[in-house]
Amino acid sequence: MFRFMRDQGAIAYVHAGAVYLNLTNRCPVACRFCVKRAWRWDFRGRDLKLGREEPSAAEAWDAARGRLEETASRELVFCGYGECTYRLDAVLGVSRRARRCAPDLRLRLNTIGLGSLLWERDIVPELADALDAVSVSLNTADPAQWIRLHAPRRRYAAAGFRAVLDFTAACVLHGLETTVTAVDQPGVDLEAVERLAASLGARFRPRPPL
Ligand code: SF4
Repeated sequence: MFRFMRDQGAIAYVHAGAVYLNLTNRCPVACRFCVKRAWRWDFRGRDLKLGREEPSAAEAWDAARGRLEETASRELVFCGYGECTYRLDAVLGVSRRARRCAPDLRLRLNTIGLGSLLWERDIVPELADALDAVSVSLNTADPAQWIRLHAPRRRYAAAGFRAVLDFTAACVLHGLETTVTAVDQPGVDLEAVERLAASLGARFRPRPPL
């Protein structure tokens, strides 16, 4: 019973008026601005450590539905201390359940933008069928700075920046409401990121550091 309750809190949590789903702790990057280790996997009172026990789509939807019933939120965001596109099947499975049970719910993915590179195929058409919006954490318009800021796993370093841009452009092309974000931090030219986002057809939103 204790384990069940702890997992529910780690899987679905409320933030900024939306319900967030934490599907994995795996990341293809180690962002310099990430707080998960400094905050010991806590996010504003929620322990988001999943370890190897990643939730199934059914478990994740149950957890999300519980939070949605407790709040007036109309938005479900796939965003954890980890990159949710590793769990593509779970994202799609939760989305199918959400569409069936709560058709007005807005579904958004927060991502580092490497999903198609991870899967070695274009996953955007599947995401576009399932979601309303995507928020891509790009953070810079400079390819060398992208590597410094995100410290990608070696096999993603060379192709990573270009892959994020292609992913973003594909999201726009497939009709997803697409926002590029950048953490406001020293040395980052936010105006250049905004121009790059506009060139891809995406919106832009600067983010304060956590
Ligand atoms: S993708 Fe998210 S969880 Fe992973 S290192 Fe970057 S900020 Fe942290």
